[in-house]
Amino acid sequence: MRRDDINLIAQRPTFVTHLECSLTGERYEAGRLHGLSSAGRPLLVRYDLAAAGQALSRDTLEARPTDLWRWRELLPVRDTANIVSLGEIETPLVPVPRSGGGNVLVKDEGRLPTGSFKARGLVMAVAMAKELGVTKIAMPTNGNAGAALAAYASRCGIETIVFCPDDTPEINVREIAMQGARVYRVNGLIDECGAIVGKGAAEGRWFDFSTLKEPYRIEGKKTMGLELAAQFGWQLPDAIFYPTGGGTGLIGMWKAFDELEQIGWIGSKRPRMYAVQASGCAPIVKAFEDGVEHADRWENAHTVAAGIRVPKAVGDFLILRAVRESGGRALAVEDADTLRAVDDCAREDGLLLCPEGGATLAAYRNALAAGLVDAEERVVLFNCATGLKYPMPAADRTLDKNALPDLGTL
Ligand SMILES: *Cc1c(COP(=O)(O)O)cnc(C)c1O
Repeated sequence: MRRDDINLIAQRPTFVTHLECSLTGERYEAGRLHGLSSAGRPLLVRYDLAAAGQALSRDTLEARPTDLWRWRELLPVRDTANIVSLGEIETPLVPVPRSGGGNVLVKDEGRLPTGSFKARGLVMAVAMAKELGVTKIAMPTNGNAGAALAAYASRCGIETIVFCPDDTPEINVREIAMQGARVYRVNGLIDECGAIVGKGAAEGRWFDFSTLKEPYRIEGKKTMGLELAAQFGWQLPDAIFYPTGGGTGLIGMWKAFDELEQIGWIGSKRPRMYAVQASGCAPIVKAFEDGVEHADRWENAHTVAAGIRVPKAVGDFLILRAVRESGGRALAVEDADTLRAVDDCAREDGLLLCPEGGATLAAYRNALAAGLVDAEERVVLFNCATGLKYPMPAADRTLDKNALPDLGTL
């Protein structure tokens, strides 16, 4: 047996007890196909954490390969045969001392399959769809989620139809098509693409995989929080800056910390969670500042950071709750600051961020200047996709091999 196969072939029970409406607490049976709750809100997966904690010790966990499946006791897949893996690694924490500061680490999610952290959510959601017998899936996307869905679903023979705004980065549209989905460009924003998906789902044509409209993407994204706890030696950083669109990752990490505390692996101390949005699309920031629980749709949404151009999030109240409970805030950044942060990080620290990752660095710099964080605090910024997927400034110097200048001038 190869060591890296161990995580995938181990037989295990699932510790899932039931699912629960995130708004009303209403219970739903595990092992059945679910969308939103009857209140129209996301469902959360609940586990027998006492039993999971007895089945798995920190020592056992630490002896396993560091991939995503090392956390299987805290994940919903029942039959490991349903796992469709493309090699989901633990992502590194990369220091960015020059562009960020001595205590700033970037969790570089661009190393995951399909080049973004959407792989975490979609590997789990697709495995569960396979387990529950789904054969056709549709999804609205700003790019990366569609690519991850296409890759994992094609790998296990599930048919996919993907709808994206017509100004979605070209490379995303093409990678989605290349990986076997039927992708349509729509003259609208992501929530308008979502309306098409919802219409087809209501007509029984496909299963709706919109953000938080099926319960398992959160469970996949939760592994970011589990990994951070392990990487920080079962403590947590002081602050986390997360580029927030639908907010799945922020909600997932908050859930992970809660579950780890319940099994006794971490204490009650939490990082301050900073939800970062672009000033051209900042519904969560507005709701945070207005002191309300739900966000209004943001009209005329625009930003270079396509992944966080989400005018309306179904999980708005969950994002706001986590941010407030943590003592963090929701912060908006200007695109110009985001692009400068991407540029600085690449030139000074050699790490190419995606624009959304750049937004977290820009927000951190603003927060530092405003005294919200201290330079001594340990901070994690999320870079959610590889910078290689995004347009870069032109590099147009040329040389004529037959008429070389003095090479000292190059
Ligand atoms: C999807 C996405 C986000 C936003 O993630 P959510 O968890 O949906 O808020 C941020 N950055 C990139 C690159 C993304 O693809």
